[in-house]
Amino acid sequence: MTTDFNQLSLDPELVQVVAELEYVNPTKVQAQVIPLMLEGRDVIAQSETGSGKTAAFALPMLQNLERGLQPRKVQALVLTPTRELAIQVADAIARYGRHLQVEVMAVYGGQQYATSKARLKRGMDIIVGTPGRLQDLMRQGILELDGVHTVVLDEADEMLSMGFIEDIENILGQTPVERQTTLFSATISRTVRGLADKYMRDPQSVTIEHKQMTVATTEQRYYLINEEDKLAALTRLIEVEEMGATLIFTRTRAGSARLANEMVQRGITAEALNGDLAQEARLHVLNRFRSGQLKVLVATDVAARGLDIEDISHVINYDLPNDPEAYVHRIGRTGRAGKDGVAITLVTPRERYVLNRIEGFTKHKIEQAQLPTETQVYAHREERLVHKLTTWLERDRSKRELEIVSELAAQGHDPLKVAAAALKMARSEENQRPVEKIGEPVLVKRSRERGQRDRSERPAGKGKNARKPSPMRSGRSTITSVEEGMVRLSLERGRMHGVRPGEVVGTIASCANIPGSAIGRIFIEDQQTLLDVQEEYISRVLGHTGAYSFRDQANVAIRRA
Ligand code: AMP
Repeated sequence: MTTDFNQLSLDPELVQVVAELEYVNPTKVQAQVIPLMLEGRDVIAQSETGSGKTAAFALPMLQNLERGLQPRKVQALVLTPTRELAIQVADAIARYGRHLQVEVMAVYGGQQYATSKARLKRGMDIIVGTPGRLQDLMRQGILELDGVHTVVLDEADEMLSMGFIEDIENILGQTPVERQTTLFSATISRTVRGLADKYMRDPQSVTIEHKQMTVATTEQRYYLINEEDKLAALTRLIEVEEMGATLIFTRTRAGSARLANEMVQRGITAEALNGDLAQEARLHVLNRFRSGQLKVLVATDVAARGLDIEDISHVINYDLPNDPEAYVHRIGRTGRAGKDGVAITLVTPRERYVLNRIEGFTKHKIEQAQLPTETQVYAHREERLVHKLTTWLERDRSKRELEIVSELAAQGHDPLKVAAAALKMARSEENQRPVEKIGEPVLVKRSRERGQRDRSERPAGKGKNARKPSPMRSGRSTITSVEEGMVRLSLERGRMHGVRPGEVVGTIASCANIPGSAIGRIFIEDQQTLLDVQEEYISRVLGHTGAYSFRDQANVAIRRA
């Protein structure tokens, strides 16, 4: 394998820039993708953020640009799922192309059209954008793609899960057929493969063997448990398992804060990793976790993004992830560097189907295990106590304590009773962790399974008298209720304006920079759309109110319903 940037046939200006950036060797994805792209091949690369994928496509893309075109024409296009990524990728391309006088621009929802228009008029070589905004600009005749010879689909799986398929197909359809197309995706699902088959020519596959996809060194098991007994179950497990650094996943941010708090109350050093923490605070938490001062870190999938810690002994899915890929990502954080890891999943009876889907996806059976019984927990506690005690006895370092016991014996206390009282005191911290009762798992019949998000176009209900969904009326298990952890918002565009569910997810997720999976049920009504969003993302979604664009309508507001 190539180990030197000089061997990749890159132009001197690009070799110079990587040297200035102090990149010593190409990463695996760079070593494989750069030569293929320089040859003009279409490439499907399975790789993730952190693999160096941006330079893998940016360097050959820059080299393949025709220089000195007057006026400039858009020659390369990168599609990204979110505005944040668009900005990040555009910045990276500008950095890699700084000796080539290239013009790069990010376009994304929420940006002033006038600004994009003025800059595009000046002439751009490379555009990086989210599919929705790119389409808007094309529709308005501000952006022309007839000179595009390179297209990169970045984080294709994310774009597809956000409902951007139509937009992507439309954009690709407006670029010359002889273009070079490259696709990067963390996972190559059937839909990603379908997109590639349709729009790419004899694509070369590059798979970077990722630690996260290898689950073999990780022992996986699950416990079937009622929702209300999860905390008690987790406490028992933490107590009896030989756990090192443990990462626990919850569905919502509020849930992670709550759980960390519960752990602390039980005498377990824990902290919630919050996606909004300032970088410095995040590093502080992570350093404490790495150094062992913190035993448990509780996080959502979003907060754990980019988390790179080698020595995690246990990953616990306190809440099941939204999709099987997220499960693989989560548990890939343990069992690293050849060490054994344990992945534990708590599953409620009505979530069993999610577990089946995970097993189907990973082609790996997850064994059901039995929770430690109350008796086992107590026995384990005593074993540990005796073990600790014998260690101290062997060390024979309790000189002063021995004097105290002698004094007490001289006062007439039975030394056996003194020892027993001392043990009682030593165990007092156990009072923080009462062993709570756990019920038999029961399947509670519900009208619909939680987690099986309904993105139907109309409010469900019985017959034609079905009521409009209103968060004010909260029949607990009816479709009108809002799931725990979700907040209902309303968007001032509806069926009359041609709004589609995929568009709602795509637009909001990309503009507010949240995962598509954070958006739950969507009810499209005539004049408005109601949608449920995980509460941890609400401030971000509302923070962009007035910045959403639907079809030809810009400045669309979103508010609490
Ligand atoms: P990416 O996966 O493209 O988001 O890149 C992740 C990080 O790796 C970025 O901070 C890059 O600047 C850095 N990077 C990319 N390629 C290399 C390389 N060959 N050597 C060292 N760092 C790199």
